[in-house]
Amino acid sequence: MDRLRNSNVMYLRGIGPKRAELLDKQLGIRSYRDLLYHFPTRYLDRSSVYRVADFEGDMPMVQVRGRFVTMTEQGEGAKRRLVGLFSDGSQMMEVVWFRRIKQIKEAYHVNTEYILFGKPESFNGRWSMVHPEIDTPQSLTAAQGLRGVYPLTEKLSAQGIGSRQIFGWVQAVLAATPSIRETLPQPLVARLGLPDLRQALHDIHNPSSNERLQAARLRLKFEELFYLQLDILRYSRRRSVSVGGFRFSRVGDYFNRFYFEQLPFPLTGAQKRVIKEIRSDMGSGRQMNRLLQGDVGSGKTLVALLTMLIALDNGYQACLMAPTEILATQHYDTVSRLVAPLGINVRLLTGSTRKKERDITHAQLLDGSLHILIGTHAVIEDNVQFRNLGFVVIDEQHRFGVAQRARLWKKNSVPPHVLVMTATPIPRTLAMTVYGDLSVSVIDELPPGRKPVTTLLRYDDNREQVFRSVGRELAAGRQVYVVYPLIQENEKLDLQCLEEGYDSICETFPNYKVSFVHGRMKPATKDYQMQQFASGEARILVATTVIEVGVNVPNASVMIIENAERFGLSQLHQLRGRVGRGAAQSFCILMSKRKIAADTRRRLEVMTSTTDGFVIAEADMKMRGPGDIEGTMQSGIAFDLKIADLARDGQIVELARREAEAMLDEDPSLSMPEHVVAARELSIQTSRAVDWSRIS
Ligand code: ADP
Ligand code: MG
Repeated sequence: MDRLRNSNVMYLRGIGPKRAELLDKQLGIRSYRDLLYHFPTRYLDRSSVYRVADFEGDMPMVQVRGRFVTMTEQGEGAKRRLVGLFSDGSQMMEVVWFRRIKQIKEAYHVNTEYILFGKPESFNGRWSMVHPEIDTPQSLTAAQGLRGVYPLTEKLSAQGIGSRQIFGWVQAVLAATPSIRETLPQPLVARLGLPDLRQALHDIHNPSSNERLQAARLRLKFEELFYLQLDILRYSRRRSVSVGGFRFSRVGDYFNRFYFEQLPFPLTGAQKRVIKEIRSDMGSGRQMNRLLQGDVGSGKTLVALLTMLIALDNGYQACLMAPTEILATQHYDTVSRLVAPLGINVRLLTGSTRKKERDITHAQLLDGSLHILIGTHAVIEDNVQFRNLGFVVIDEQHRFGVAQRARLWKKNSVPPHVLVMTATPIPRTLAMTVYGDLSVSVIDELPPGRKPVTTLLRYDDNREQVFRSVGRELAAGRQVYVVYPLIQENEKLDLQCLEEGYDSICETFPNYKVSFVHGRMKPATKDYQMQQFASGEARILVATTVIEVGVNVPNASVMIIENAERFGLSQLHQLRGRVGRGAAQSFCILMSKRKIAADTRRRLEVMTSTTDGFVIAEADMKMRGPGDIEGTMQSGIAFDLKIADLARDGQIVELARREAEAMLDEDPSLSMPEHVVAARELSIQTSRAVDWSRIS
């Protein structure tokens, strides 16, 4: 019997059926447990009492003690309000209510001592508080010290349900449940020095000190992350046992001839290390499922190619899938040029491949004479059948959904090895969670000789000067990107801005050909324009973020980003990665309005101060939370974390991961007596939430 989960809050004093329905709809609170796990988002210090005479400037919520001298209704209709004159002996202030006037008038009286808690506001030279919390000195004792502020919705406030009501109901639940079943294994709680569950739940709602509060939060965060990790690890361990894979035992002619005769430059240490990691996976007899992270320009393509050659050496076919036609074509050009001397058959398959070519490709895939297939989504269509697909590379994976990846696997009875490559650096703690069952390799080193891109923040009124430097780069033979934001909500305005920008660039640089690309164009037009720029025919490309992913034009040395303040950090980093690919010193110029919010400025300053993608990803995650990253990865994971934060609680994530690993090492089926609690809790949690098997 699980009392916390099975008791309905409807029966608590002051709730009843109507409010219960509201709590359920607005906050998802139904059971005692839901209520106890509705944690305060911040705390107010109610330990000191202020004097009205001492109020000043912009104050937080404060507490005052005194009496109402008068209480009068004023105004008519929508402007109707209740105004109390409140004196604490030092000075008068006004207290104003706009709602629930009748109830307030009945509940509170003049000449009775109250403690008010609210935010002082200065209005017409007089201090006032709007809808403060009111206590009598007698009722207050329980609420002293740190006082939680609960997340609420407007609908609830309108119905008179505030932080204070929630607090009261939580106290009632705590009083009704003097013992709460521990949900972590006791030895673990003891070893880590965590408070037990009942204590933690008590303290998070009634912290007697900051230390107690922090201990309670740690315990509750750890528990969430521990079960999340346990779930992911258990799933991935099961899968690695159940899913066999091809054993690529040898490195043969293709690899060796390419490596020793064709390699255009020595590999970086990081590239070598990653290839070793991949080789050992592929030789293990289990299916490889590896994520390769490497900053833009770190040389992932070469790693992919060498790995494809290992597949070929073992008699298998390989396939590389890219998210856009432009990228697929670029990969095809690179790969077919590099392997031409080895007599390897490479073909390209995209949405615009002609029927005749397509038929040849299909036939060659089936009879095995095609070694490497490169393409877009087109390669996962059902009519694309391989003779023996052994290895799949997915480039810039965040553009592909889980389901699409899974379709590639289904092309064989034994799943091919999979390498997923991404330039969106994912902070380690998030990778651990989102890709819990993938192994992760990192290329953390750029090829030698790269000059870091110089990033500058410039304002709209510096434009002339910026254009002068652009003119110098063009005169020196280089190419230039100019990127505009284009977001759905603003589409019309943005397109207009983009077109004006294009016109003004054409006017400013009449001697150079300018390409123009945006996502609303016909693909054929877009490709033509891109091709013009890639070939060097056009020297300037005015575009939206369609160029964000992967395009490689080493001769481009300037990236101008208009309205940079409207881009996220990761996006800015991706865009910047389009330059700095050749020998020339490159520049990224962030254009923005002069007047921007402080946090926007901070974001842009991260860009001007570092080129390290991981530093930027961490900063991005800290500023925005992991939400956006999750979104782009389309992982399918529902992050139902109530208190832990993957962005900010990295250390706790790692601790939880270690503990979960240790537990599964010792007891893979969680059947030891001291782990029964964990097994039970895990099954409760997973029955509700996430279907991990959906994640590749
Ligand atoms: P990304 O990791 O962004 O996909 P690419 O694979 O496109 O990067 O590589 C970027 C550029 O670096 C390419 O022009 C590639 O030829 C070059 N490159 C890759 N590896 C090396 C290396 N070890 N030494 C020098 N240049 C390299
Ligand atoms: Mg790439």
